[in-house]
Amino acid sequence: MTAPLTMDAAERPAPAFLDGEAKHLLIDGAWTAPRSAETFETVDPTTGRALARVSLAGQDDVDLAVAAARRAFEAPSWADITPYQRSRVLLQIADVLEEHAEELAVLDSLDMGGPLWMTRWLVEHSVEVFRHYAGWPTKIYGQTAPSDPTVFSYTLRQPLGVVGAITAWNGPVLQLAWKLGPALATGNTVVAKPAAWSPLSTLRIGELLTATDLPPGVVNIVTGGAASGEALTGHGDVDKISFTGSLTVGKRILEASSTDLKRVTLELGGKSPTIVFDDADLEAAAKGAVAGFAQGSGEGCVAGSRIFVQESVRERFRELLVREMHTYTLGDPFHPDTRMGPLASRPHFERVSSYLEAAREDGGSLETAGRTGDGLYMPPTLVEGVGSDARVVREEVFGPVASLMTFTDAEDAVAQGNDTVYGLSASVWTADLERAHRTAARLRAGTVWINAFADMSAGTVPFGGFKQSGIGREHGIEVLDAYTETKTVTVHF
Ligand code: NAD
Repeated sequence: MTAPLTMDAAERPAPAFLDGEAKHLLIDGAWTAPRSAETFETVDPTTGRALARVSLAGQDDVDLAVAAARRAFEAPSWADITPYQRSRVLLQIADVLEEHAEELAVLDSLDMGGPLWMTRWLVEHSVEVFRHYAGWPTKIYGQTAPSDPTVFSYTLRQPLGVVGAITAWNGPVLQLAWKLGPALATGNTVVAKPAAWSPLSTLRIGELLTATDLPPGVVNIVTGGAASGEALTGHGDVDKISFTGSLTVGKRILEASSTDLKRVTLELGGKSPTIVFDDADLEAAAKGAVAGFAQGSGEGCVAGSRIFVQESVRERFRELLVREMHTYTLGDPFHPDTRMGPLASRPHFERVSSYLEAAREDGGSLETAGRTGDGLYMPPTLVEGVGSDARVVREEVFGPVASLMTFTDAEDAVAQGNDTVYGLSASVWTADLERAHRTAARLRAGTVWINAFADMSAGTVPFGGFKQSGIGREHGIEVLDAYTETKTVTVHF
């Protein structure tokens, strides 16, 4: 593979949003400087240049944002609107995001290095997510309970209150949409905190929301890192934390939430298996397997970073895998021929590199499809010859790195596939329908794709993790449990 594709500064997009002004916090509908006046820089990983200075929210600022969200939650302008009005607001959000889709995709590509084709898709998906949730407000039913003729009992689904929505850096618009959509559809209010490496698109969405009928204070945005997140999770007037991020931080959030029993949804990491049986369409499986760990530079929670192939087809499959890895052109996210951009930041690049080093120390051999050492670019890399206890096999790498291992039969594939603390997703490749369904049933994962990788719905199917990949589900009918309380009302005649 040749050197990563580059572009001149003049050819790269320069969104008007990046006007050199420091970005403030969105509190009660107004852009507000942080009390401390502290800011941090967000950097373009492709060029290493600063994109903007962004406010660092402290406890005082988070207190103001939560108070605004509480007032908005109780105000008739949000609490008493009809289901139809709530639907309309969600449709307006979808429309305004769609009108500015290109700009939002560009901001994400600048901020976290994802190729433009991918960030465009993620924004399009997010628009559909809001349209999906626009259908919910008019369909949230309670139940009537069988009871004594002198008693009448029924249930109401009521919003939780103030939701803290904390997101990771790898898919900012999408992760925000997955939280805002259901939270707003069920009548909650939100304080959103994007990751410090990629806050720009969330802030721009905050501006775009002013073009809708969303009352001020229903969505507030605070920016910063761990301390700003902690101010939100430790806040006594936040009813729920919906978190997307790492297992380590997820555990801290669970601990912090235990003091006042906040509701939590945790969407955490993964170490997903790709299982390729000998009867699979091996070319399709190789494409799917490489997409599984290299698409989006492997910076995805569902990354298929452990590939298991049936022994009898290992050689042929490996050949196809390596050939496919070489089609992943590295380059500037805005170059039309780029399939993989740079990793999202210098510390992250170093962290991923440390796994390659660890794999070598554990006796592994590395097949790398391209050049390393150009900026933050990292080509797809396959690790072979390591045991099941190697760090690269056990821990989430979050880069374009997968280990290739073999299995003997379905029993062995399932046992190895399940040999992880995670359980977010899995993909199974076979032509045998019975084997596909039996394997899917036995894999301990929240989502199993058969002859596919990461076929994501825009809201209709539940998404979330078994085991330490999380708690709760986003999307599907299950999402209602995540954003409402059920109240029983009993009347004695
Ligand atoms: P991270 O856990 O470091 O940070 C996630 C968010 O939490 C950020 O906004 C961060 O500022 C905030 N945060 C950090 N420490 C905090 C604390 N103590 N209290 C409250 N908030 C805190 O994760 P990351 O590096 O941004 O993202 C990568 C991780 O996210 C990976 O593990 C990946 O698998 C996971 N992820 C999961 C999903 C999913 O849907 N399951 C989707 C995308 C990413």
